[in-house]
Amino acid sequence: MFKKLCSSIATPPPTTTTTRSSSGGGGAVSSQKLTRESTQKPPLLKAAPAAAIKAEKAPAEVFDPNPNNVSIHPKTPIRNFELGPIIGTGSFGIVPIAKHRDSGLVVAIKILSKAHVAKTKQIAHIVQEKKILERCSKSEFIVRLFSYAQTREEIHLVMEFVPGGELFNQLRIYRRLKNDIARFYVVEIALAFEYLHEMCAKPCRVAYRDLKPENVLLDGYGYVKLADFGFAKQLGPKSIGKRKDGGGGGGSGGCGGAMEELRQKVGFIENEKAYTLCGTPDYLAPEVILNGGHDESVDWWALGVLLYELVRGIPPFQSEEPWATYQKILKREFTFGPKEPKKAKKTKHKSGKKETSTTTTSGSKKKKVKTDEDNGNQNDKEGEDEEEEEEEEEEEEETENAFGFTKESRDLIRKLLTVESANRLGSTYGSIEIKNHPWFRSVDWKLASERKWRKPPIVPQCPRSEKELYAMLQKIAEEEGFDEESSARNDTNFVELSQEDEAAFQALEDDYEGANDKNENEIDNIITVET
Ligand code: ADP
Repeated sequence: MFKKLCSSIATPPPTTTTTRSSSGGGGAVSSQKLTRESTQKPPLLKAAPAAAIKAEKAPAEVFDPNPNNVSIHPKTPIRNFELGPIIGTGSFGIVPIAKHRDSGLVVAIKILSKAHVAKTKQIAHIVQEKKILERCSKSEFIVRLFSYAQTREEIHLVMEFVPGGELFNQLRIYRRLKNDIARFYVVEIALAFEYLHEMCAKPCRVAYRDLKPENVLLDGYGYVKLADFGFAKQLGPKSIGKRKDGGGGGGSGGCGGAMEELRQKVGFIENEKAYTLCGTPDYLAPEVILNGGHDESVDWWALGVLLYELVRGIPPFQSEEPWATYQKILKREFTFGPKEPKKAKKTKHKSGKKETSTTTTSGSKKKKVKTDEDNGNQNDKEGEDEEEEEEEEEEEEETENAFGFTKESRDLIRKLLTVESANRLGSTYGSIEIKNHPWFRSVDWKLASERKWRKPPIVPQCPRSEKELYAMLQKIAEEEGFDEESSARNDTNFVELSQEDEAAFQALEDDYEGANDKNENEIDNIITVET
């Protein structure tokens, strides 16, 4: 469960990929043990009926972990919290629920073992995770980091408690989601990416690099909170042209002179690209596998994989072995399902009235302008189908095929799953390219960014009170054997860290420059820090 595997690939940069399994914890949704392995078999091809999901009402009363809207000091030590049951296990430790003694704020604390982090050479990732989360407190769609502290043995990331569990759990319950339901989640994740790529570290960018349904948490109402920033990475500003003198950009390659100036002025040291192979095999973009450097557009690839998985119930590229999955990804080998039998389809009269016809190719055939991706050399098995699909231009946009895809969701997925990253949707102008795709026609992005566009289509089963929450979590913890892991934490013998590792952990102490100011200015209710 949630254990990250180090898998080595031929060339040796640091490599970290995650397995895909879920504890079913992460909240009070279900005490069922749900595993990623269960996705190996194609699920029933019956999507959850949209009407049934829509019918679910927002609960009259949802447990609110932060009813008084308090914040705590950004360096609150763990002894100021009363630890409760464990809600999840991470790669480096446990995630218990906890209650801040003075304010009553209920939080989730990610407790990481320093020895484990150092042994697996993940210190830099943890430092990035903390720093990036500090910058994301204003996003509605990213889990909030309230405070951070470290002891000799452990690191404690005190986060907003997200009670609705993982989107993964909902996908296991419903197997497949209708396009209209999937759209809600894709919209909120796209907004989280927009914030990371374009806003939180401007002019730098943050690549998230670990999208999968297990990392998409739902709050009590069913809104998205992106979690697990263990692989997130801050990248330097994007190139804005070649230097006139033809020189490189301080090691980041092809950086414009103006950008170099900016880089020197603000002192950014980040590279423009990242090189670590990390993420979850099914969701890796080709350029990550090929190790030639990647940037935030890997997240748009992953969004294409996620959309596919939500609609079909299984990811597009899947195999028993990661290597076989990588081969499929590089060849872009996936299918949108069997060709539809030629059947009655709707055609439009000039008057605009629809009628049903059994012919397939009558009438004028408009050829679509080829997209960048169409021109790419991608060994696309979909290619032939695509042409025929394009010919069927009268096809209803929202008609779902046997695998659940509509004409527009297929088009969006193709454009996101573009092997050549420079041609991928979102890679040139960022999120605006995604937002303008016709699959999102019905979305009011401004309202969506304020969480007012529409009610969440699935309301997770959540506790209504703190008492109910603790009772449910206790039950799950017992079923999952979390208690044993908790005591294992107490038994851990401290391993002496090397001086180098100690120094690396020190980087956690550099606060994001806005973090303290923000808290002092914005928090009415600063809670005291124990010294
Ligand atoms: P790791 O990065 O080590 O895998 P995660 O951050 O994914 O650890 O946490 C492990 C699990 O704990 C998550 O999948 C989720 O189920 C649960 N969890 C983590 N953070 C929260 C949170 N803020 N609220 C609720 N559950 C959480």
